[in-house]
Amino acid sequence: MKLTFLGLPGAGKGTQSAIVSEKLGIPTIATGRILREAISEGTEVGLEAKTFVESGLLVPDLIIIGILNERLAKSDCKNGFILDGVPRTVAQAVSLEADGILLDAVISLEISDDEILERMTGRRVCPNCGAVYHLRDNPSKMGHHCELCGHILAQRSDDLPETVKVRMEAYHEKTKPLKAFYSQRGLLRQIQANAPIAEVTKAIGDALGIKL
Ligand code: ADP
Ligand code: AMP
Repeated sequence: MKLTFLGLPGAGKGTQSAIVSEKLGIPTIATGRILREAISEGTEVGLEAKTFVESGLLVPDLIIIGILNERLAKSDCKNGFILDGVPRTVAQAVSLEADGILLDAVISLEISDDEILERMTGRRVCPNCGAVYHLRDNPSKMGHHCELCGHILAQRSDDLPETVKVRMEAYHEKTKPLKAFYSQRGLLRQIQANAPIAEVTKAIGDALGIKL
């Protein structure tokens, strides 16, 4: 199974890809997470990407394509993978196809701009393992610590309302056109994302014809 998740920042891509990844036993590749790690480690890619990520702009396609190709070449991807937040431009999608990487389905998580802002203020993430929580809707059973690894949770610096606004604009301008791109290929599955997490997961399973 080769899947990708599309949707506004905060639509639930990371949350749902973690669930599906565990159920199907295939890895999730989240370019946002790879970039945040590269930035905190100060690698060359991190230095190139830093100002884009911190201001909420998309990182240039060539950097993303390089990161993705390197990750997809690893052996754990041979039985399938879930992409979270990539491709995010038509150029990235065309590059995947040109490299012979053909997706089986594209899940678009549908939610309005207004519903996103509350999700973003409540989001907490684990800087160590990448787990995602929400203060009210999906709290960690260990309070301010990660349920999975015990690390202290943090708020993402790009979840400030001004930066979220830039990221939403980037989605509407650069990423939304991918819905038409994948619809033409018969791959688009649109899922209402303003429902409890377990209901969204069930709808994804129904759309893919599998039990999740
Ligand atoms: P994305 O990866 O699309 O940016 P996340 O998966 O990180 O989005 O989710 C954004 C925030 O919303 C997180 O705090 C997450 O816990 C919460 N969340 C995700 N899905 C739902 C849902 N169906 N209902 C309520 N909160 C959700
Ligand atoms: P995310 O964790 O998916 O919300 O991504 C965080 C940030 O990383 C985005 O706001 C972009 O700056 C950058 N980013 C992640 N994935 C991509 C991508 N596929 N194309 C361009 N920029 C990306």
